[in-house]
Amino acid sequence: IKKIGVLTSGGDAPGMNAAVSAVIRYASSNKIEVFVIKDGYKGLINDWIEQADINYAQNIIALGGTAIGSARLPEFADIKVREKAVANLKKHAIEALVVIGGDGSYMGAQRLTEMGINCVGLPGTIDNDIVSSDYTIGFDTALNTIVQAIDKIRDTMQSHNRAAVIEVMGNQCGDLALYASIATGADVISTSESKLTEQEIVDQVTAIAKTGKRSVVVVVSEKMYPDVHALAEKVEASSGYVTRATVLGHIQRGGSPSAMDRHLAVTSAMFAVDQIIAGKGGLYIGLDGTKLVARDINSTLNMPRKDKTEETNKIRFLNAQFLK
Ligand code: ADP
Repeated sequence: IKKIGVLTSGGDAPGMNAAVSAVIRYASSNKIEVFVIKDGYKGLINDWIEQADINYAQNIIALGGTAIGSARLPEFADIKVREKAVANLKKHAIEALVVIGGDGSYMGAQRLTEMGINCVGLPGTIDNDIVSSDYTIGFDTALNTIVQAIDKIRDTMQSHNRAAVIEVMGNQCGDLALYASIATGADVISTSESKLTEQEIVDQVTAIAKTGKRSVVVVVSEKMYPDVHALAEKVEASSGYVTRATVLGHIQRGGSPSAMDRHLAVTSAMFAVDQIIAGKGGLYIGLDGTKLVARDINSTLNMPRKDKTEETNKIRFLNAQFLK
């Protein structure tokens, strides 16, 4: 194989640049020319394709976001649109692609593989919502951002005898909420996989108020309640704590990648290039424990999500000791 491409697709995540950098450097060291595709699949159909610069690659490891841009292109599900992408790749003699993104992006990668362009996916998302990888590139950085934010909110809640409802990202995956709750000792936890009703949250904070605790931190996953500010008002009305809601929002997506995210990005990128050199496609790289694995994209898309209710309940028990 002589020429490959690399692109980032779907939601951005810290560490995507480290992955792009490693693809460029590792492939180049294997005498493969690398092309970067700007703005994901959108760049493929618009021919926003440029030869990668090795000096540039070295300089982007520490950058947040994705320097080569990302985009969403729902039309990519249409074969006519993908044919344009394949024609552009053929024009540059690009034979294979590394696609860094979430499982939506893998669908596109699988379709392209079926059209003769071997694609290998890397798990790039802060949400950790790729079922067949224990961790994804970007998760650790986002988690650290969240933990720092919750610690800061706790300081002021404790000073003023207040409660806070903090909404974190995660898409349909509760890992950011769960791991952040473990790391901060959050008093009340409601995650996508282990959801509390609004009334259960109100009741739990009210029970904590009766113990005389000075501050309460409630961590909730996004997309679960119609309005966390309204939820905070309900908590305040019942518990007596002055209660504020904070939606952490896009701060969670940015920032320089953590060392662990860079490590996963670089090692999985090299592993992906190895698959391409071996002539394979339609694969996606995941972390199984501490081991990198290459799995069939088709087989991973239907894997069931792990049930984390028991783990979440254990943390709830740990973090609410004072109630017993
Ligand atoms: P993520 O990769 O983070 O899950 P999306 O779900 O938005 O993000 O998917 C990213 C892109 O992947 C989409 O905008 C689209 O271009 C492409 N894609 C998603 N599903 C398909 C599909 N079924 N067939 C072809 N391309 C797809």
